Amino acid sequence: MGANIEYSPVIGLEIHVQLSTKSKLFCSCSTDYIGAEPNSNTCPVCLGLPGSLPVLNKKALEYALKIALGLNCKINNFTRFHRKNYFYPDLPKAYQISQYDIPLAEKGKVELLTKNGEKTIRITRAHMEEDAGKLVHPTKTGRLEGATYSLVDYNRAGVPLVEIVTEPDISSPQEAKEFVSLLRQLVRYLGVSDGDMEKGSLRVDANISVRLPDGTTTNKTEVKNLNSLKALEKALEYEFKRQVKLVKEGKEIIRETRHWDDKKEETFGMRSKEQVHDYRYFPEPDLLPIIIPQEMIQQAEKDLPELPWEAKQRLKDNYNLNDEEIHVLTERAELLNYFDQVIKHGADPHKAASWIKSELLGLANEKGKPVWELGISPENFAELLNLHEKKEISTPIAKELLTKIIETQKTPSQLIKELGLKQLDDEDLLQRLAQKVISENPKTVEQYKKGKTKSLNFLVGQIMKETKGRANPQKVREILIKTIENPE
Ligand code: ZN
Ligand code: MN
Repeated sequence: MGANIEYSPVIGLEIHVQLSTKSKLFCSCSTDYIGAEPNSNTCPVCLGLPGSLPVLNKKALEYALKIALGLNCKINNFTRFHRKNYFYPDLPKAYQISQYDIPLAEKGKVELLTKNGEKTIRITRAHMEEDAGKLVHPTKTGRLEGATYSLVDYNRAGVPLVEIVTEPDISSPQEAKEFVSLLRQLVRYLGVSDGDMEKGSLRVDANISVRLPDGTTTNKTEVKNLNSLKALEKALEYEFKRQVKLVKEGKEIIRETRHWDDKKEETFGMRSKEQVHDYRYFPEPDLLPIIIPQEMIQQAEKDLPELPWEAKQRLKDNYNLNDEEIHVLTERAELLNYFDQVIKHGADPHKAASWIKSELLGLANEKGKPVWELGISPENFAELLNLHEKKEISTPIAKELLTKIIETQKTPSQLIKELGLKQLDDEDLLQRLAQKVISENPKTVEQYKKGKTKSLNFLVGQIMKETKGRANPQKVREILIKTIENPE
């Protein structure tokens, strides 16, 4: 954004995280709605039928509490639900049970590592609420555009959400992306949501305004429908440019909700933004306030797993891995756990990190499975790395063994024995092979002698081929040089 130093974006986010509880927030209906028969996971409570009464799901409260603690929020021991009134076809009660004046948690903060160093993003609040149903548009794209009617599926109605609101502390689209990515990592580490943006488990709305050279800010707009990190970044870049253009033309920025069109890569106005008083919030009369005992908070605090930023610090402190490796290893808690297990089984941390990054992630990509589900146990992987470290197997053999382990589930040493893959270190044999290759390739030898050192690679390759990759390439190289320089 170098071209607009005098204008800068001011961004705040509202993120809805779907909790991965088995049942809904106020009834026992299943939350597993993906692929389910429409309206099959419903009951009088989540359909909002008269006379039905909601009952709070304790697990959802525990999960929400974990998120709040992970975000360093102050927990309100006394909290309650409100009705947020608005009519929409996917909201059968014509109100959403949400939280208003006393949310579960407030005043948190997250340290975000940006390219300009650490930066604190303040969390305004984190509250619980229920999800709405889903409108289904019978068009090819599934979008409203061109539909002559719409269907409604209430399977999602009542699924527990935590809404997280940040202060407008984010100062670039890139930072917004990094924040959401960190938040997604957090909920995954906490085991409270799959954080999958494509499935809608994590949904982002972004507020953006422009800070002017005199320090004041314009009206903000809210961009909805951001269902990927890329969309979030692009939409904010677009919206910032649009607002700056309006400012420069002396036009007013209308306070409104805008939609992001992923195909056209632009935002468009939807409706003027509701004011809080439009919702006619009032305390939910069917639910008692929640009093959270101090012990419950302390217990939840104790039960918190290692958080992403703690894991990063640990890898740096304990193993002095580089930033890139740390980034890769901590991306998913499962991968970090895999790495930890490999180290426990005696592998060198640097070697393990670099092999996971290059080889295992490569294989994972190829097989379309995460590393921890590839079928290479941490124990087998550690053994393989150690055999390679001791030079009992060459690099190409070690790589080949990875595939063999997946296929057979046998240990590296078993496979080496069965397939006769142990590294060839026999000097006499390598010497004989070197002589053979030298006499068979006089031209290449001549080139090498003339100073074309790369020609040696070809000769090494010939011996590796001859030994089916079992020779120690370093040794082969040494023997070749010696033999060429001192022919017998
Ligand atoms: Zn239900
Ligand atoms: Mn909400």
